[in-house]
Amino acid sequence: MSNNNNNIPRCSFCGRPINDGSVKVIAGHNNSFICENCVQACSEIIAEESGAAKAGRNNNAKRDKYIEKLKVPTPAQLKAGLDEFVVGQEHAKKVLSVAVYNHYKRLQSQVAGADDNGFKDVDLEKSNVLMLGPTGSGKTLLARTLAKMLDVPFCICDATTLTEAGYVGEDVENIILRLVQAADYDIERAQIGIIYVDEIDKIARKTDNVSITRDVSGEGVQQALLKILEGTVANVPPKGGRKHPEQSYLHVDTTNILFICGGAFVGLENLVKRRVGKQVLGFDRSKDEPAQVQAAGRHLSSDNFLSYCETEDLVKFGMIPELVGRLPILTYLAPLSRQDLVKILTEPKNSLIRQYQKLIAMDHVKLEFTRDALEELAAQAEQRGTGARGLRALMEELMLNVMYMIPDHPDVVKCQINAAAVRGEAEPKLSRMKKQQETES
Ligand code: ADP
Repeated sequence: MSNNNNNIPRCSFCGRPINDGSVKVIAGHNNSFICENCVQACSEIIAEESGAAKAGRNNNAKRDKYIEKLKVPTPAQLKAGLDEFVVGQEHAKKVLSVAVYNHYKRLQSQVAGADDNGFKDVDLEKSNVLMLGPTGSGKTLLARTLAKMLDVPFCICDATTLTEAGYVGEDVENIILRLVQAADYDIERAQIGIIYVDEIDKIARKTDNVSITRDVSGEGVQQALLKILEGTVANVPPKGGRKHPEQSYLHVDTTNILFICGGAFVGLENLVKRRVGKQVLGFDRSKDEPAQVQAAGRHLSSDNFLSYCETEDLVKFGMIPELVGRLPILTYLAPLSRQDLVKILTEPKNSLIRQYQKLIAMDHVKLEFTRDALEELAAQAEQRGTGARGLRALMEELMLNVMYMIPDHPDVVKCQINAAAVRGEAEPKLSRMKKQQETES
């Protein structure tokens, strides 16, 4: 052990000669030695590891406390909460409510001392969610509303800004940083948060052919996302940007972070159509419809093809199978109908109309919309093809003049908007107060 070829005694660990008396040496069994430098190094390693283990235990305890404090509503309660803010999208609401409820139940099952009901050996797998649906149909709104109801950190990230490590753009770890920032740098709290990854369809593989150039913003990002979605300890640069070797990192465990991904997947319906659409040809459609479609009592129609989407369609679209596999819960949001758009204007708790009414009320003016004005707004928004997003832009254009003049006219007490005003053919009808009397102009 201690001897080499020329028989000089050496430290059995670092191999340095120990016969010159320059370092203290401890002799061990069978002619082995350890020098004082190695003793020092060993004791530092042991101290560090037990410190890390202790910190880990403390962190787990802190995480457990957060999980125990979570008041997770039942799926029905979650859906009722979503109903207050989101119009339509019944299927997506139900799927999301159950997914979120199960996700937090899974977390609760990990808390030390949790009752396992006899299923001690059963590990619950994580269930991230993929939402398909046209732009402006409420994908982000659903995710945001859920996070608010649960009071957990939440962030929205855009997959289009991400690139594979080493290329211009953002590393995927930056999406975790957003969540950490949303949790005020409380990492344990961030570790039970929700991340909404928008535009996930934009990182589809660009082409089926093996390309000579790397697909750094497509397949490369999907590969990088895999680990984070499944659960890993991510090294997150605390100030964002690119990672570099000398940096110190925040270590964030993504195992308990729920990922909800959303995208419009333009063109996907054609792929689904090609797969199931063959059956649509012919006269007796019911005979040819796939069993699951018949079972659901639904009929194929051009506007709900996405609801029959399956993994293979997503893979054909350009998502890698491993990533699709890590998003096992799939749901679909329907394009909003004109009636939905009218409801969006008036029904949700913070509907656009209520928001403008609140703004205008601060100038002591009552804002009213006639029924035909609402229908006209919805019709115009429908034409824009950007879902409910179009409503906001339309309202802003419509209300510009009113909001411009009202603060300087304290005599105005009421503003009524009808369809002609929405079409720009007439001015909004203003009622003014003159000497205790209301007159109309
Ligand atoms: P996307 O599907 O593109 O993520 P968003 O959820 O961001 O769409 O919707 C944009 C805005 O449109 C929301 O902030 C919300 O005001 C409105 N909106 C969209 N869909 C709905 C809906 N189903 N119910 C109520 N409001 C909606």
